[in-house]
Amino acid sequence: MAPSACAACRSQRKKCSDECLLAPHFPSDDLQKFGLVQKVYGFNNVLKMLKDVKAEQRADVVKSLVYEATARMEDPVYGCTREIHQLQKRIAEQESKLAATQAELLDMRFEHDNFVSLPTICDEVDQMLFCEPLWEVQI
Ligand SMILES: [Zn+2]
Repeated sequence: MAPSACAACRSQRKKCSDECLLAPHFPSDDLQKFGLVQKVYGFNNVLKMLKDVKAEQRADVVKSLVYEATARMEDPVYGCTREIHQLQKRIAEQESKLAATQAELLDMRFEHDNFVSLPTICDEVDQMLFCEPLWEVQI
């Protein structure tokens, strides 16, 4: 039985070879995945993008292409930029909360430092209470 062509080669009605760059990423049993990527980027562009990167980066490139193509199908105008914008907004909100928490922590440290010096003040007060009164109460 001859090995089946990858999804990319099947879509192009080409013979798939062992050296096919697309075969490891677009198996023959997942035609939809390549169809989505091809629809957005085109066969030759996908092939060129995979040729332009190191072999160990190709899986990440394919993941990125599939992600972007999926987002582009759902939102043809903004694609994944809408989600990126939302995530950047959330990051800004979290950074703002972090800054507020750090300011609160600084205040608490300041209060703690003053609290630590409180015993010193208490010692001084104790000494004042137990020392000889400066005046005698006359009854
Ligand atoms: Zn192929």
